[in-house]
Amino acid sequence: MPTMGRVPHMSKLQKTMNAPSTRDDSVFCYGAEDLVDNEPRAAYFESRLISCFSIRISWLQRCHARGKRVERVLLDYGSGGKASHRLIGELFLKYLGNEILDRLDDAAFLEIKGPISVSTDTFTVDPIFFPGGDIGSLAVHGTVNDVAMLGARPRYLTCGFILEEGLPMADLERIVQSMGNAAREAGVLVVTGDTKVVPKGAVDKIFINTTGIGEIFVDEAPSGHRAAPGDAILISGFMGDHGLAILSKREGLTFEAPVLSDCASLNHLIVRLLEAIPSVHVLRDPTRGGLATTLNEIAGQSGVECRIFESKIPVRPEVTGGCSFLGLDPLYLANEGKFICILPQEHAEAALAIMRSDPLGADAVQIGEVRGEHPGKVVLETPLGGTRLMDMLEGEQLPRIC
Ligand code: MG
Repeated sequence: MPTMGRVPHMSKLQKTMNAPSTRDDSVFCYGAEDLVDNEPRAAYFESRLISCFSIRISWLQRCHARGKRVERVLLDYGSGGKASHRLIGELFLKYLGNEILDRLDDAAFLEIKGPISVSTDTFTVDPIFFPGGDIGSLAVHGTVNDVAMLGARPRYLTCGFILEEGLPMADLERIVQSMGNAAREAGVLVVTGDTKVVPKGAVDKIFINTTGIGEIFVDEAPSGHRAAPGDAILISGFMGDHGLAILSKREGLTFEAPVLSDCASLNHLIVRLLEAIPSVHVLRDPTRGGLATTLNEIAGQSGVECRIFESKIPVRPEVTGGCSFLGLDPLYLANEGKFICILPQEHAEAALAIMRSDPLGADAVQIGEVRGEHPGKVVLETPLGGTRLMDMLEGEQLPRIC
């Protein structure tokens, strides 16, 4: 049996656990990880695990009793025990609470009228804070928008958190608060959730899954299968803002004019649009893969050609500049607060007027039309009249964009 002297990391762990007044939480969190990663020490650590665990729990309880703030997320916060319950009460319910969530039953009791629209998405964006938003607001906006695109009023959200041990509690609080604000603005309730904490290195800081449920209020739901020759293709604003904002923050790039993510919930605008013009054929938010990928999906689903005109596609000069510097195409960059609307040409002007009456659609414009010539293809017409095929990319230009 190794002695304490031969296990320096264990010595550090024991020492820090016995000195709560001077303990650095990060040392406490990561000391155990060092031991587990080190094969020769693992057996010894295993034999000590139960006693260490009980010491750690009592340390957490002492922190709580003394009103001492724990600065970083610990594995115990995902245990389902007292620590988990404190985290739920003091953080999640504080920012996300409502009469349904506050009941804390195993499942949420929902009253909802069918047919319903349901969508789920998992958010792994890196960095977790970026110009114009953060992973918390993005996790609400992204799912709310997907639910709304089917002609639905989003009502409820579920959320699942996977937290990395050692994540600063201040970051988690900022993210959950941001989720609460985004949900309130969108008019949705977070009705159930889950938290797991995994050892340091098992995930990168925080991953969030959200599932959204909404009531479809149109007779015929918009769908990628309904684009028809003669339809107009509209978009609600500038392309590529979110993708470039993420990349610039991740890589530490600065541009003359800062590029902000367009991250926003579009549901209120979508409701107004569909109430006025129920004959919309397709609504889709061009997120991962951008405008070009989303139009390819629609062209494939409907068996039509999407013809778009390069000169009409709104891209901010700073995004064009940043993309040419980095060798990226803004038409493949993600957007998180824009939508494509495809509808009969005779309704295009009325739809644009409604979109432009809302700040989230102020720069809406018609960028193309649906044709029957090249089924399943997206054709870009250049300002000089040439054409080129906009194919789907094999992979993603930028990983972990949402
Ligand atoms: Mg979508």
